[in-house]
Amino acid sequence: MTETTHVLMQPQHGGEEEVKKMENNTKMRKKIPPRELRIKAYKDVLKLGKRGLSLTKIREEIHRKHGVWISTETIRRWLRGVSSPYNGIGIPSLELLEPSEDLGYVIGVRLGDGYTRKTSRNYVIGLKAKDKEFVEEFGRRLGAVLGGEPIRPRFRKDVGKYFAEATSKTLYELLRKPIDLKRIKKHVEHCKKCTAAFLRGLFDSEGHVSKRGYIILYNTNYEVLAYAQKLLKRRFGIETTGPWPHVQKGTTMHDPRTGKQYKTNEDCYYIYIKAESLPKFYRHIGFTIRRKQKRLEEYLRRTGKL
Ligand SMILES: [Zn+2]
Repeated sequence: MTETTHVLMQPQHGGEEEVKKMENNTKMRKKIPPRELRIKAYKDVLKLGKRGLSLTKIREEIHRKHGVWISTETIRRWLRGVSSPYNGIGIPSLELLEPSEDLGYVIGVRLGDGYTRKTSRNYVIGLKAKDKEFVEEFGRRLGAVLGGEPIRPRFRKDVGKYFAEATSKTLYELLRKPIDLKRIKKHVEHCKKCTAAFLRGLFDSEGHVSKRGYIILYNTNYEVLAYAQKLLKRRFGIETTGPWPHVQKGTTMHDPRTGKQYKTNEDCYYIYIKAESLPKFYRHIGFTIRRKQKRLEEYLRRTGKL
């Protein structure tokens, strides 16, 4: 909110001066400097980081030059490229968020492997997955939606996965759980390209290609699968069966990686793409994840459909 609108909105509180004083008090309490100042500080943080200064030294240097204290956690996140004051610029509200293929893809991923998280000072949207090209694609598209640079994936050794994250309150509002299909509809169904990107994001996340080349889409949310099914049929003439229940809540499962038994805490469902529709799926949707796309191509070649 700019200072002008703030003043206009609170004329009942007296003169302009008093409102400004109030604003200053609020700022001091929250310790969040205005965006322009944060952007200046951000640029300097990157410069100082390149010179190899410690987080504490950078923090002191920024305070000396700009008169604000930026937390070391924020400085760390800026240096790692996880967030920046540019994130979300140009999309101050959901109404101003424009439909695009990039956003369609991000929504699709969010309904699958993606996550949102609210912390005390940030609204985070992210993806953690083992296929690098998948996280790269997500980071590139998420960066484009936020009007900035691609968000580069980072590798987390402890979990053996790549992740890409950004912060945006507006996107968080759109993608937070529980997902409301009505809220995302405008973006997903904007045009054929947006729908295709959405489905691709969803299938990159939770689509499985069997060794024989069949494609199954899993999700814990029945409605998401029914929605995907409707879009596949109406927009692309792709036939599916299901949704079928996959695993019932509370079923004892065996994790082959750890060798441990565990109980599932959510129901899971799947839809199955009919074999005759696989060439259409390949043509209109496809996978970003190479191992999945390769299996699909092998199947189509083997059966003389490619
Ligand atoms: Zn569109």
